[in-house]
Amino acid sequence: MTTTPRPNAPPLDSFWMPFTANREFKAAPRMLVSAEGMYYRSDDDRPVLDGTAGLWCVNAGHGRRQIAEAVERQLKTLDYAPALQMGHPVVFELAERLAALQPGGPEARLDRIFFTNSGSESVDTALKIAQAYHRVAGQPSRTRLIGRERGYHGVGFGGISVGGMVNNRRAFSTLHGVDHLRHTQDLAKNAFSRGQPLHGADLADDLERMAALHGADTIAAVIVEPVAGSTGVLPPPVGYLQRLRTICDRHGILLIFDEVITGFGRLGATFATDWFGVKPDIMATAKGLTNGALPMGAVFVSRPVFDAFMQGQDGMIDLFHGYTYTGHPAACAAASATLDIYEDEELFTRAKDLSGLWEDAIHSLRGLPHVVDIRTIGLMAAIELDPREVAPTRRGYEVFVDCFENGLLTRLTGDTIALSPPLIVEEKHIDELVQILSNALKRLS
Ligand code: PLP
Repeated sequence: MTTTPRPNAPPLDSFWMPFTANREFKAAPRMLVSAEGMYYRSDDDRPVLDGTAGLWCVNAGHGRRQIAEAVERQLKTLDYAPALQMGHPVVFELAERLAALQPGGPEARLDRIFFTNSGSESVDTALKIAQAYHRVAGQPSRTRLIGRERGYHGVGFGGISVGGMVNNRRAFSTLHGVDHLRHTQDLAKNAFSRGQPLHGADLADDLERMAALHGADTIAAVIVEPVAGSTGVLPPPVGYLQRLRTICDRHGILLIFDEVITGFGRLGATFATDWFGVKPDIMATAKGLTNGALPMGAVFVSRPVFDAFMQGQDGMIDLFHGYTYTGHPAACAAASATLDIYEDEELFTRAKDLSGLWEDAIHSLRGLPHVVDIRTIGLMAAIELDPREVAPTRRGYEVFVDCFENGLLTRLTGDTIALSPPLIVEEKHIDELVQILSNALKRLS
């Protein structure tokens, strides 16, 4: 382990690191100091293959000059302008581009865009729009929100309330009037599935039960990640998302997809909604929108939902919600340059072309010590380990550290190792990734 501080290393005391065991990290820090293409460089000057696109966000790979230059140009032209009762052209241009990313005509698209600064803000914005929609549409009793066990929707109070990762909720109060569908993992029936598991579509019927239990007229929206990411990559069972859509339609419940991870090419289509052929009413995005270069999120809203807000009295504010940095010019410039790269390099479909190779490579780890499940979809994967009875999560942590020390960045969630490389990944990188991971798994006690 890296225990000696590097020359010129900054003091580590003041920064309270998020979602980190601070004392453990600071006793043996892991530092990344630069990045280019598929690789980070550590502070001891080792290449570290990026197996996680940063944090599921650097989809076009690192060090993209085009983005840096666009941001620099924008900052020198217009560094900041408010988007409340004022406008600047780049935010309108970006919204038009995003609206046009989805296939089909206006009625098939979610083409009204609200900008935020993160995935958490996109989720809370989506939830608030859903509640406010029912109010303007004449059904103010619909305030209840339904999430799903093991869901991750960021760290705002809305997001942790509908989220279902227990440690993220335990220490905090959560919103009233929230319920959760069961999660969809079923190791007994679906272990080592490739792509969507076969069993579990009927779990969507939980929503039907909730409509009966609470009264459908109390439910504003259900929110799910099309593929649950942070809990350890759980692709939806075949037919599950379709069934949720049908139940939502039956009961007038809005369907929100949290596409913060799955948006911008992760599965092999622009969005998961295109991949699965199920259209939500609202879609929350962030991360890949700017290739991770600057913080930004976008909430995509369907016409019927948006139009309901446009019926009010002229001169009245439609939605009492927004941020100082909504549509920040520099973030808009980063997003626009990122979209250019995605389009020029056809990155939205690259995961589809590579997914067979990816799947075979990752599933070759089956049979190694303690591996109890492997899940793959698009350019996402999870390797789940049997937890040590006395010390759950430590096995996963040891693999994560071993991989880093041998030149691979992975993502750790409990005893599951998650992978989501930049979409520019090539076969040689996949080979390298699997080799390092396999060696680490073989060393595991
Ligand atoms: N929603 C999902 C599905 C996520 O995976 C994340 C972050 O990983 C978020 C929301 C929160 O995004 P952020 O960390 O940008 O607030």
